[in-house]
Amino acid sequence: MDKIKAAIRTIPDFPKPGIQFKDITPLLADGEVFRETIDRLKTRHENHDIDIVVGIEARGFIFASALAYALGAGTCLVRKPGKLPHTAHRQTYDLEYGTDAIEIHADAFRPGQRILLVDDVLATGGTVAAAVALIQNNFEIELVEINFLIELTFLKGRDKIPSLPMYSLVTY
Ligand code: AMP
Repeated sequence: MDKIKAAIRTIPDFPKPGIQFKDITPLLADGEVFRETIDRLKTRHENHDIDIVVGIEARGFIFASALAYALGAGTCLVRKPGKLPHTAHRQTYDLEYGTDAIEIHADAFRPGQRILLVDDVLATGGTVAAAVALIQNNFEIELVEINFLIELTFLKGRDKIPSLPMYSLVTY
């Protein structure tokens, strides 16, 4: 796990003053560490019979698709508004100033499918809470677990979704 944490770079004051941005590009550029990252999640879920790994735009796509491939599962995109070509469900959520939204195709899952939700960073939890609402309000599926590469524990994002199992590879 140390190798994974060592490959994550912290950029102070990006994109705004006061934000310690977790830059995962060095991890992605290191074949050995990227593989270890995916392998750790794969090992965790090997016996969970996962049908679809869902990624949240944009960096979540990288981990969701690699993990889906490793597990022999499908993958699915939760996207910013206006990007999905087919009929989609939408969930809006509050930001510090204003609101944002995410969408998912209306035919993304079949009833009873076993789903993993993946993103790169859990910060305040607003994004993942919206993704959970988007999925649970529109589909009869089983959300097996939510995984993050990085969790910023001091922001207590986990408290936004107390009812679901959550696991992060690296915590700060
Ligand atoms: P939040 O909704 O606050 O949990 O923010 C989660 C989303 O914002 C994730 O999809 C991250 O990609 C991004 N994000 C938030 N904070 C950071 C951070 N300190 N470093 C890198 N990405 C972040």
